[in-house]
Amino acid sequence: MNGFLKRTLLIGGITMAMLASGCGSADSSTAAGSSASSGGETPAVTTAATTVTTAAETFGTTQHPEKEASEYGKVIALTFDDGPNTTCTPLILDLLQKYNARASFFVIGDNITEESAQVMKRAYAQGCEINNHSRTHSYMNKMTAEEIKAEISYTSDLVEKYIGEPTRFFRPPYIAVNQTMFDSIDMPFINGKGCNDWEEKVTVQQRIDKVLEMAEDGDIILLHDQPSNYQTVEALETIIPELQKQGFELVTVSELFFAKGITPVSDSTPKIYTNSMQESNW
Ligand SMILES: [Zn+2]
Repeated sequence: MNGFLKRTLLIGGITMAMLASGCGSADSSTAAGSSASSGGETPAVTTAATTVTTAAETFGTTQHPEKEASEYGKVIALTFDDGPNTTCTPLILDLLQKYNARASFFVIGDNITEESAQVMKRAYAQGCEINNHSRTHSYMNKMTAEEIKAEISYTSDLVEKYIGEPTRFFRPPYIAVNQTMFDSIDMPFINGKGCNDWEEKVTVQQRIDKVLEMAEDGDIILLHDQPSNYQTVEALETIIPELQKQGFELVTVSELFFAKGITPVSDSTPKIYTNSMQESNW
């Protein structure tokens, strides 16, 4: 038995505000009101046996080497938004291959073409994970539940068509969220520590410095593989080996949670992860 802990966080009374991270310009509006009223966190721990099954089924091990959670040391998940494409994404895959590292790509459904799908298939074959960043990259906190579900299923179905697995995690465009989204999307919500790498004015060195100074065990790092984001590719030439030198294993998002023995919430709980071990909603 792996002794996983399943944590169910019952959190109420919070206000969900837009976070100024993710790609594109941030919106300062507040996304949603509060729910429930208990306040604070109430972790509930269930039996290990139940949770081993849940973790394996929901966040299976197909995308990473077969090893026990206890065999991991420090882990970190590099994630890339806004692909796939045939220019920048392959260069990132080359680097991941060179350093024997894995990462996760949060793809936009409308960017998946016959050509870019081949890149996605390559990523998957390299042990990377393909996740969901909506179909149209719109402000989904302004959509109806039906529109939200259509965005998600379009992308997940297309990913499944090409790689044989549906998407497992969701990153909201612009990190714009509301309760309707948490109620409508049956996947854990993922944020991450970013370095504003969608902005051309942020230099390669600034990207390197920011990522390396932020990196902590269990973190999700938010980067972009937009078609001409070559500065991030260049930054990765330093970031990847340097993180490895510091003892981090570069893993997928599924693997990150697996390594920490945590089942991320995917119900209506308004929670979005920047670190796999975080107890707070944000
Ligand atoms: Zn994006």
